[in-house]
Amino acid sequence: MSYDIEKPDEQWRAELSPAEYTVLRQAGTEPAFRGEYTDTKTTGVYSCRACGADLFTSTEKFESHCGWPSFYDPKDTDAVELIEDRSHGMSRTEVRCARCGSHLGHVFEGEGYATPTDQRYCINSISLRLTPAES
Ligand SMILES: [Zn+2]
Repeated sequence: MSYDIEKPDEQWRAELSPAEYTVLRQAGTEPAFRGEYTDTKTTGVYSCRACGADLFTSTEKFESHCGWPSFYDPKDTDAVELIEDRSHGMSRTEVRCARCGSHLGHVFEGEGYATPTDQRYCINSISLRLTPAES
């Protein structure tokens, strides 16, 4: 799989903070309820912290109480890439930025949330950067 934006590992390491690098480039997970956007209700667009691609918007963000920012749909279907993830003895679907391949989080479905898709894109705050809408 190749991405529009590909950089050597050393470059990602230099451009991102250690915490950002761990999540975005090594598929880490930030601690629950600690991320800066967990409860954010600001209107705006969430872009990839690694490459700046627009990924999610506040319109699709909902309160899942799971401890991470949750969205029921990406901004555009092709903005994210979904990959089967069998690590940690679980079968999950990993969500990556389709432009740079950075790890964002996982998507779960059929959990019964009252959202239009019944999907929960469980995304690390540190993978995103919120640009508030101009009012
Ligand atoms: Zn990206």
